[in-house]
Amino acid sequence: APLPADVADLVARRGRNFGATSVLFYERPLHIVGAKGARIFTADGRSYLDLYNNVPSVGHCHPKVVEAVSRQMGRYNIHTRYLFDEVHDYAERLLAHFPAPLTNVAFTCTGSESNDLALRLIRGATGGQGIVVTETAYHGNTLAVTEVSPSSYKRGTPPAYVRAVPPPHPRHYGADVGAGFAAAITAAAQAMAAEGIPFAGLLVDSIFSSDGVYADPPGFLAPAFAAARAAGGMVIADEVQPGFARTGTHMWGFARHGVVPDVVTMGKPMGNGFPLGGVVTRPDLLQRFADAFGYFNTFGGNPVASAAGLAVLGAIAEDGLMENARVVGGRIVERLTAARARCPAIGEVRGAGLYLGVEIVSAGTGAPDAEGASALINALREDGILIGAAGPLGHVLKVRPPLCLTLDEADRFADAMEKILAA
Ligand code: PMP
Repeated sequence: APLPADVADLVARRGRNFGATSVLFYERPLHIVGAKGARIFTADGRSYLDLYNNVPSVGHCHPKVVEAVSRQMGRYNIHTRYLFDEVHDYAERLLAHFPAPLTNVAFTCTGSESNDLALRLIRGATGGQGIVVTETAYHGNTLAVTEVSPSSYKRGTPPAYVRAVPPPHPRHYGADVGAGFAAAITAAAQAMAAEGIPFAGLLVDSIFSSDGVYADPPGFLAPAFAAARAAGGMVIADEVQPGFARTGTHMWGFARHGVVPDVVTMGKPMGNGFPLGGVVTRPDLLQRFADAFGYFNTFGGNPVASAAGLAVLGAIAEDGLMENARVVGGRIVERLTAARARCPAIGEVRGAGLYLGVEIVSAGTGAPDAEGASALINALREDGILIGAAGPLGHVLKVRPPLCLTLDEADRFADAMEKILAA
């Protein structure tokens, strides 16, 4: 069927305005006019269950965030060279969620800026240049951060001072994933050193999101951190995806592994849609950086951003969202694992809390089925459920809804999966 006129018009305007950088979801794109909780509303009067968007993490249009941002926008908004309360009320509440010695924060506006600053911090502190990342990692869009984002390369490869290792899964490393992953990091650091590139450190998601959602077993990151440090490097934990209670048991993904990074980077869910990112680190790392460079971020930590961030932390606590992520995410795992007996296209179901990966495989061979995943994503969209895919082949459904998802909504998703896969 042809696209509705309003959708066709927007697609055409998009092509004219954005040109070649336009990337659009779905064969039949959505024209969005509203959102609430874990629901998105479209111009044709339909309501969609949103299992994709982790930016509005405490729920689309959460009233507390909307109110806090509107109120502060009407009072004043200014940069952090002036003194005002809001950024410190927020910084103190945020830093209270971090273990020692991570006691300083630098605010940014995006995850990319956060990772960019993090790279500068560890390169400055170690004097090294070499960075180890995972094969399908995405850490953002600046020049430096694109270099450490192998998934961004359509052709060519990252520079010699970036080495990519397979993500932590038994498929790559056997049963002892932690030891195997750590050995790969050691080998990559040594290979760079042999080429005269001193090692700066390891940059990893504490849930390996674009790699295909690898979270388990908790603790597997500890040997990796030890290996990076033994090779003379530091560790950056990219919490843009797992951070802010999404894993259901901890505020940060790294805490599930019992490790403390040198630098933690944050973005996406931090302001629930208001652009807000940040870097949390040790005072000595910031000191060494500040000795060499000035750093000022015009919009980072402004009072409106701080109000958004504070409201997000409030909502996580007051709405019990960490526990909800654990319970509702657990329900999805349980339902989809049980459904495997009836739906052989469902492969491994993995992840933590409300960040799950569901492998879609060929019923006969168990081989990754990216086409099947894509067909399923489009069929779910027709059925009123929005979801995306991850992994090098794109065959892993990525379940990362707003953390307010209900058990009924989780069941609605599992029912739809069974219905579509049975058909
Ligand atoms: N790190 C990770 C793990 C991400 O998923 C993303 C965004 N998808 C980024 C960093 C970059 O964040 P931003 O788009 O806010 O710059």
